[in-house]
Amino acid sequence: MADEPRKSVLVVEDNELNMRLFCDLLDAFGYDTHTSRDGARAVEIARAEKPDLIIMDIQLPEVSGLDITRWIKDDKELAHIPVLAVTAFAMRADEQRVRAAGCEGYLSKPIQMSSFIRAVEELINGAAVS
Ligand code: MN
Repeated sequence: MADEPRKSVLVVEDNELNMRLFCDLLDAFGYDTHTSRDGARAVEIARAEKPDLIIMDIQLPEVSGLDITRWIKDDKELAHIPVLAVTAFAMRADEQRVRAAGCEGYLSKPIQMSSFIRAVEELINGAAVS
């Protein structure tokens, strides 16, 4: 375990409390983190850092997380990176929109620590989150 390079996660989130929560959890479980508060910057960081996973808040101030996910999935260099959507909307129709945009995983707020970490680990290890 100690010999394995640390995996990295890009967290796209405009809410400071959620950002800190996600980063603290990821750090506690051994992941490096990159952060972005907005969409355009998120794509730049994804290109530069090639994270193993992107955690995507859907409600962002300018461009929605769904649009950012579509940009990522349209980019040959980035399309393989799994995207875990996080949204305050817990309705079935929203999950379908999130999946249609290309997100591989979906969690609704408030986030439960155990399901958050399970989703992160399943996506990084290549298994779909049910
Ligand atoms: Mn938000």
